[in-house]
Amino acid sequence: MNVQEEIKDLVERLNQYAYEYYTEDNPSVEDAEYDRLYARLESLEKEHPDLVRGDSPTQKTGGVILSGFEKFQHPYNLYSLADVFSREELAEWEERVRRTIPNPEYICELKIDGFSLSLYYEAGRLVTAATRGDGSVGENVTENIKQIKDVPQVLSEAVDIVVRGEAYMPRASFDKLNIERELEGLPAFANPRNAAAGTVRQLDTSVVAKRGLATFLYQEAGPSTHGTQEEVLEYFEKLGFVVNQERVFARSMTEIWAFVERVTALRERLPYDIDGVVVKVNGLSEQEELGFTVKYPRWAIAYKFPPDLAETEVLSVDWTVGRTGVVTPTANMTPVTLAQTTVARATLHNVDYIAEKDVRVGDTVVIYKAGDIIPAVQRVLLEKRPKGSAPLPIPEVCPECGTPLVHLEDEVALRCVNPLCPAMQREKLIHFASRDAMNIMGLGPSVVSALFESHVIRDVADLYTLSEGDLMGLEKVGQKSAEKLLASIDSSRENSVERLLFGLGIRHVGAKAARILAEHFGNLERLATSSESEIAEIPGVGRVLAQSIVDYFATDGARALMTELSLSGVNFDYLGGSVKSDSPVSGKTVVLTGTLSNLTRSEAREILEKLGATVTGSVSRKTDFVVAGAEAGSKLTKAQELGVEVWSEADLERLREV
Ligand code: NAD
Repeated sequence: MNVQEEIKDLVERLNQYAYEYYTEDNPSVEDAEYDRLYARLESLEKEHPDLVRGDSPTQKTGGVILSGFEKFQHPYNLYSLADVFSREELAEWEERVRRTIPNPEYICELKIDGFSLSLYYEAGRLVTAATRGDGSVGENVTENIKQIKDVPQVLSEAVDIVVRGEAYMPRASFDKLNIERELEGLPAFANPRNAAAGTVRQLDTSVVAKRGLATFLYQEAGPSTHGTQEEVLEYFEKLGFVVNQERVFARSMTEIWAFVERVTALRERLPYDIDGVVVKVNGLSEQEELGFTVKYPRWAIAYKFPPDLAETEVLSVDWTVGRTGVVTPTANMTPVTLAQTTVARATLHNVDYIAEKDVRVGDTVVIYKAGDIIPAVQRVLLEKRPKGSAPLPIPEVCPECGTPLVHLEDEVALRCVNPLCPAMQREKLIHFASRDAMNIMGLGPSVVSALFESHVIRDVADLYTLSEGDLMGLEKVGQKSAEKLLASIDSSRENSVERLLFGLGIRHVGAKAARILAEHFGNLERLATSSESEIAEIPGVGRVLAQSIVDYFATDGARALMTELSLSGVNFDYLGGSVKSDSPVSGKTVVLTGTLSNLTRSEAREILEKLGATVTGSVSRKTDFVVAGAEAGSKLTKAQELGVEVWSEADLERLREV
C-alpha cells in the first residue's frame, strides 16, 4: 500500500469505528486500538499535509448523528481534547504552551469517562440540554437530562449561561443496571461509558430517571466574565452544579506528573470511571491567546491512562469467516488474567496487522483490553521469541469452502467472495435470528450449523418452510425443542419490520438505523424502491448508508429473498407506531418475573409493549401489576408487600385476544 492508500484505509476504518462508537454506542474495537490507528493517521498527515482528506477524523469532532432526537445547533463550537499517552508527549505539550505563555499556571482535573453534554440556561432556568455531537450540531436531549437528579433546573442566580460537562454512570448504578438487564434477558453494557451514552440517548425518558446518572460540570462555553478556570468552577458550585473536587494547580511538568501519579493510584477507589487527566491553562486570557486548532483547544490536553496489559503465549491462530465474508484471525493463547477476567483469545484484526506486529505461534505477546471487547495484541516480546519460529502463514483459500480468498484493493480485509460459502450463510443466519434482529429463540450457532450440514436450509427464507420432521432429523434436537423453535420462527413473522431490516445484515444498517428507516418508510417495499436521495434526505442518514441500502436492494439475491419472505407471510410493516392506546394495559407499568411456560420473556414484553404498557425491571409503588411465572422470587414478594396486583401467564395470554 502506498501512503495515499494507507491514509484512505485508515480514514475509512476510523470513520467506521467512530460510527459504531458514537452513533451505535456499540464499539467493535478497544479505544486503545482506535487511538493507535488515529495516531498513525495523524503522523502520516503531518508528513504529507497535501494528502489530508476532507473526511478525515482529524478534521472533525465526534460522529454522525442518527437518532430519534431533534438536532440542536450549538451557538459555539464544542471542541474535543487532544490526547497524549506518555509523560514525554505531555512534556512536549507543556513546552509548547511555555513558548507562548512564559510562566503558565495549570489546573489539573480528572478526565471523567462519560458522555459530553452542554446545558443552556436562560435567566437561571434550564431550557435546553444537548449532546456534543460533531461539535457544531448535537441532539436535543433536554427531557432526558431533566431526569438526572443532580442537574439543577433552576440556578441560584438568574443568569444566561452555557455550561459544558460530562454525564456519567457511577459504578454502583452500572453494576445494578447490568444485573437487572441480565435478569431481563437483555445484553449487558460493556462499560459505564457506553451505558451512560445509551441512557442519555434513550427515547423513553422514564428509563433515564431510573438509571442513576450523575454529572460533573467543567467548563463555560462562550465568553466568560471570569478570570480563571478555577473561578469558573467555583462559580459553578455557587450556581448549584456538581463540580469535581479532585483538582490541583500546577506550575511545572513535575507538579503535573505528581498529580497524574496520585490519580493513577486513586483511580480504582473512585466510585466512577475516569480515563485520564485533563491539564488546562488556568488563566482564561492566556487560553484565548493560545487559541484552538480545527478540533482542539491548544490550552488543554488529555493525558490518557495506558490500557490494562498482560503477558501470555500464542498457541495457535484460527481464521474464521464472518457474515460479510471477511476472514478474521484470532490468536488462541495460554489463559491469563487481564482487567479482572481470564482471557484466552485475542484478535489479530487482519493481515496488515499481523504483518505489522509480526505475531508468530510460540511468541510471548503483550495483550491489552478495554471494556468487554476481545483483547488485542499490543506487541511481541522479541527477546522471548523461540528459535526457528516462522511468520504466520496467511491462508490463500477460505478455511470453510476452499474458494481462493481475495484482498480487495481498497480494503485491508481478506475476503471469501463465494456467496454460497457455508460459513457466511451460517453467520448470516445466526445474525438474522439474534436478539436485536428477528429474536428467534433456540436458533443459536449449533442448531444453525446442524441445519446447514444436513442441507435442510440454504438461507433465511428456508427457515419459514421448516417442518417438525426437518428438525427431528437433527441430532440433539428433541421434540420439545423442535416445537419451541418452530413456534419462535412462526411468531417472528409478526415482528415489526425494523427487526427484519436489521436482520438482513445490510452493510452499515445497525439496529438503530433500521428503526429510524422503518419508522420513516413504514414498509420494507417502500424502502426497497426508494432512491438514494430519498433515503439520504432523512435527518441524520448519510449518503454512505443510503448508497449501501440502494446497492443491496438492487441485487437479484435481495429481490428473490424479499419475494420468498413475503410469500412466507413475514411482516414488512413498521408496527412500532401502532401501539394501542385504548387497551386495558395502555399506560400501565408492568414487571415480569419468574419463568413463563408458553411465552419467552421477550414475547411477553412485546405483547405488553404493543398494547401500550411499559415493562420495567423492578417493583415499586409505581408498578401497576406484576406478571408472575413459576419460581417467581423477591419481585413477587415485594409486589405482595406493596399490594401491587399480580397477574398469571394466562391473564397475559388473554390480552393477546384484545
Ligand atoms: P475524548 O473523550 O478523548 O476527550 C474529550 C472529552 O473529554 C470532552 O469532550 C469531554 O466530554 C470529556 N471530559 C471529561 N472530563 C473532562 C474535563 N475535566 N475537562 C474537559 N473535558 C472533559 O474525546 P472524544 O473526541 O469524545 O473521543 C475520542 C476518543 O473516543 C478516542 O480517543 C477513543 O479513545 C474513543 N473512540 C473510540 C472508538 C472505538 O471504536 N473504540 C471510536 C471513536 C472514538
